[in-house]
Amino acid sequence: MNVYIKLQNNLEELNLINMKNNLDKYINLINSGEKSIVEALYELSELELKAKEKRAIASVVKVANFHFLKGTEDFDFSFQPGINKQQILDLKSLRFVENNENILFVGTPGVGKTHLAVSLGIECAKHRYSTYFIHFQELIAQLKKALKENRLEVRLKHFAKYKVLIIDEIGYLPIDKDGANIFFQLISKRYEKHSTIITTNTPFSEWSEIFGSPVLAQAILDRLLHHSHVILIKGKSYRLKEKLEFFSNSSKQQ
Ligand code: ADP
Ligand code: MG
Repeated sequence: MNVYIKLQNNLEELNLINMKNNLDKYINLINSGEKSIVEALYELSELELKAKEKRAIASVVKVANFHFLKGTEDFDFSFQPGINKQQILDLKSLRFVENNENILFVGTPGVGKTHLAVSLGIECAKHRYSTYFIHFQELIAQLKKALKENRLEVRLKHFAKYKVLIIDEIGYLPIDKDGANIFFQLISKRYEKHSTIITTNTPFSEWSEIFGSPVLAQAILDRLLHHSHVILIKGKSYRLKEKLEFFSNSSKQQ
């Protein structure tokens, strides 16, 4: 077997697939004098490192349980002029995580609350902060199940330890007293220790209806809002925009 084949086999055995796939290109660049051997080896190793980094990011993002993957680059800020783009980009620098601050996106359906929450969450996961995305109703269901099975403390600790916890859609449906109490316990455990990102359609003044108690709602809001960024989104629904475009296009085609 010639050395070239042996080298290819070794690279494959070592799982250095990117180096293997680019070997020919770099041998040619060395032969033509465009790259020195050191440069070529360096660039080949860089290709491998970049691919490794990409795999690592893909796996942390997967663990974070996002239901879709969209970044701020996919967000059309001109469609939603009420949002301060600079503020979102500043949040993307993740200072809020280091400062254990919360973010609350408040607004009517379809204005991009979940999209922006996910895009910040992806950034957190990419930077290796332990990050988890969950719907509010699902979170409450899991915690209530744990209460029933006498393992609430363990489950609360589990959700309390994430550096960034994204709780989506607080308030579509009201929750019962047990659920409200457990949620308060979780928010208390996370208070000033870790960041929580919330999305909600329900104005804070109506949170007592979600939690069935003005006192509990106030206690939860106090802790969430103490060190926080509140982003109120008043604007049109992007979902509706897509629907309207669809209908106007189909009527044009007729
Ligand atoms: P909300 O959580 O406020 O109900 P979403 O974030 O789920 O709304 O947005 C609904 C859909 O519209 C998603 O697919 C989202 O990616 C998209 N979307 C919303 N606002 C924008 C925007 N300004 N630019 C691009 N896509 C948007
Ligand atoms: Mg949403």
